[in-house]
Amino acid sequence: MTDLYLNVALDTPLDTCFDYRWPGHGEPPQIGQLVLVPFARREVVGVIVDVRTRTEVPPDKLKDALDVRAQLPPLTTEWLDLCRFAADYYQRPIGEVMVPGIPKNLRVQKTVSLDRALKKLAKTAFPHDPAPADAPVLNAAQLEAAFAIGNADGFSPTLLYGVTGSGKTEVYLQAAAQVLANAQRTQTEAQVLILVPEINLTPQLENNVRARFPGVPVATLHSGLAEGERLSHWLAGHLGHARIILGTRLAILASLPRLKLVIIDEEHDPSYKQQEGLRYSARDLAVWRARQLKIPIVLGSATPSLETWHHAQSGRYRKLELRERASPDAALPRIRLIDMERDKPAQGLTSTLVSALKLRLERGEQSLLFLNRRGYAPVLACDACGWIGNCTRCTAFMVLHKPENRMRCHHCSLEQRIPKSCPTCGNVDLQPLGRGTQRVEEGLQQVFPQARVMRIDADSTRLKGSAQAAFERVHQGEVDILIGTQMVAKGHDFRNLTLVGVLNPDTALFSHDYRASERLFAQMMQVAGRAGRAGRKEGGNASEVLIQTRYPQHPLFGAVMAHDYDRFAGELLEERQQAGVPPFMYQALLRAEARELQTALDFLQQAADCLLHPGITINDPIPMTMTRVANVDRAQLLIESPSRPALQMFLKTWMAALRAMKTRAKWSLEVDPVDI
Ligand code: ADP
Ligand code: ZN
Ligand code: ZN
Repeated sequence: MTDLYLNVALDTPLDTCFDYRWPGHGEPPQIGQLVLVPFARREVVGVIVDVRTRTEVPPDKLKDALDVRAQLPPLTTEWLDLCRFAADYYQRPIGEVMVPGIPKNLRVQKTVSLDRALKKLAKTAFPHDPAPADAPVLNAAQLEAAFAIGNADGFSPTLLYGVTGSGKTEVYLQAAAQVLANAQRTQTEAQVLILVPEINLTPQLENNVRARFPGVPVATLHSGLAEGERLSHWLAGHLGHARIILGTRLAILASLPRLKLVIIDEEHDPSYKQQEGLRYSARDLAVWRARQLKIPIVLGSATPSLETWHHAQSGRYRKLELRERASPDAALPRIRLIDMERDKPAQGLTSTLVSALKLRLERGEQSLLFLNRRGYAPVLACDACGWIGNCTRCTAFMVLHKPENRMRCHHCSLEQRIPKSCPTCGNVDLQPLGRGTQRVEEGLQQVFPQARVMRIDADSTRLKGSAQAAFERVHQGEVDILIGTQMVAKGHDFRNLTLVGVLNPDTALFSHDYRASERLFAQMMQVAGRAGRAGRKEGGNASEVLIQTRYPQHPLFGAVMAHDYDRFAGELLEERQQAGVPPFMYQALLRAEARELQTALDFLQQAADCLLHPGITINDPIPMTMTRVANVDRAQLLIESPSRPALQMFLKTWMAALRAMKTRAKWSLEVDPVDI
């Protein structure tokens, strides 16, 4: 009998897989099984990516594999290929793609009782279904969309372009129902994956799904799960038990052997991009996965990303439209601008906004104020000498957090007590400049002492479950005025909310980042979309959105007021084409960081000089806008090409050259970067 060697993907920074000898007892291992192996004086679990009869590793270096987790069915070839593609495309080690997504309990423990986990699964993964709910009667546009998606054949990418409140969720659910029903009819099995951008949106969706699919096993995958839960839900997906899988971006790498439909809600949302380690776009991987499996995929949004819009315009994606709000007599809110030069704000609130809030309070309707800046004030300053509270470790201000009596750097997490007097001149009258959510909350309490004001942002929802509890209180009507960051702007279906106030959108109007206006527009439409979703009540206020700005003439606001994404997107695409930026250009960004900026720049220069390639533009290395974070200086180098394959080919060769370079700088490469 010949010896068997297992080629194993391990979570290491090395861009290679490792051979182990299979000591030969028991069943021969299979590709896709998990295996426990010795590595660097530890024992770790990896994924078998090949089983071979030969190895290049010399016998004295070769180690034995310790244990194959044979109870677990192997990961499928399709899943392995997905990971291979991601590793290849994003230029990362394959093990880094495969291994971290596998639940820790399957990896770190030497022995795992899968039996026990599987038994627990039945209890934990599919708990208490809420009372079954009937689907509303779909309108014609919804019906058409749901039918088209649910019965699509093969790979068929669809943009579901529907205004906020148009009932996209209903379309997803009906399409999912059809896919599950079709499978049942043909006696096959199906799984539907639904991705949402925010972990806080999963409970609402999960309730809807469970109510509408009584008895159908549902699994959820997001970063908020405890390890035991993660194991159960992951297994539910992997074993094919779960029919519907809800998750955030990380769920795109889940093992789902019966996957038949992928749905990406709010596909434009930046949270689909992972911003560290394997910097993947869950949306892009989802499209790849759907193509690989030859299944339909739906990208839903009221404000699609320009990439997706471009594909829809060029006919590569089918476009289905929902132009009207779904609830009877719910109309899109009226959007108005308040010129802050004329109506000067007090406590951050213009008199127009205060009156509008007052009207809602009188009628018992809810209001939402959106300000994308947490903390009390972004800067603390001394009028007497000009001192400003900078972070000593970053090119950034320390943000004032008043309730906690803290100054906090949002980039390196450095904290200190709020100084009682100016560290330079002793002046005791230090001034907070600008306004964050905490300060607006304080102002609201002064202006409306009777109102029940609640703030929802990353600070107020630090504890597990607290965000869900907070949103629950809003839904239960225990809150009159909600103030929050982007956390409150997305997706939530608030039924009694008729006023949205946008407090400070202006900084994004003049950003150097060409994506800023696309994002601002999407954000405005999303947050505006929280108002008036249930239709007007007898004697109730018409729903409206008030935007406080110093630049009411800015064309972006014109498009926002007209709810005119088409025109706005068309103009932006034209600009982008002329400027030669995505989606008309493909990019990669090499980042380097070091104690000394020069070390980082030198490495990037060396990288820029080491390889020339026709059709590839290598720009100059530059320091990043926020150069210093946590005492480390950062610089970047942008690579561009009008051809994606050309860029990919270049990156392969280039990465090999970079890995061979000696430098003290830490570096990383990002493909399709979004923050440049
Ligand atoms: P979107 O995701 O497009 O913003 P939702 O799917 O959240 O919109 O739907 C908005 C609201 O309209 C929800 O409360 C939903 O229950 C309701 N709704 C959806 N479809 C219908 C319909 N056909 N008839 C009545 N109400 C509907
Ligand atoms: Zn001073
Ligand atoms: Zn800092």
